[in-house]
Amino acid sequence: MAQPISIHPSVDNGIAPGSADFAGGVLTCLCAERPVKVEVDAQTAHNHACGCTKCWKPEGALFAVVAVAPRDKVAVLENGDKLSVVDPSATIQRHACSECGVHMYGRIENTKHPFYGLDFVHTELSPETGWTAPGFAAFVSSIIESGADPANQDAVRARLREIGLEPYDCLSPPLMDYISTFIAKASGVLKN
Ligand SMILES: [Zn+2]
Ligand SMILES: [Zn+2]
Repeated sequence: MAQPISIHPSVDNGIAPGSADFAGGVLTCLCAERPVKVEVDAQTAHNHACGCTKCWKPEGALFAVVAVAPRDKVAVLENGDKLSVVDPSATIQRHACSECGVHMYGRIENTKHPFYGLDFVHTELSPETGWTAPGFAAFVSSIIESGADPANQDAVRARLREIGLEPYDCLSPPLMDYISTFIAKASGVLKN
């Protein structure tokens, strides 16, 4: 039998469940010297595998694993001078360590965006356990844009289902509904 497809190191050997009373931790970049440290003073939500070309992935991983936390609970603790925004024109401003390349947090500055107020974080950068477990896989088709073989997509989706991450080619239906509801309320199509 062929080796199972590697999705991401934090899910390849089974997904650790989150813990209900978990209250956050500290993310550290990969620099051996003067690492950037970012505190996330809350449990995360909507943790998921992401196949888009923008999210930071560890070396060799097909997917990123990314969650959100309230932006007022995310604070740079140390060596913030090493951070810079990867693509200032992107909706999500990904603040990355300019030395090791790790994305420490992604922030949306457009107050009218459905996800305004939520920062995107990679909890694998924290030694603490108990963060919310990834629950689905987003933007699965997009891994092709990063060089994945289109012929393997069925096998990738099968592997994602096997480890409990339902594959979607955009976000999950609840998040897509959330976005559309936000937009419909903003435009007045949907009242209150
Ligand atoms: Zn670094
Ligand atoms: Zn992504």
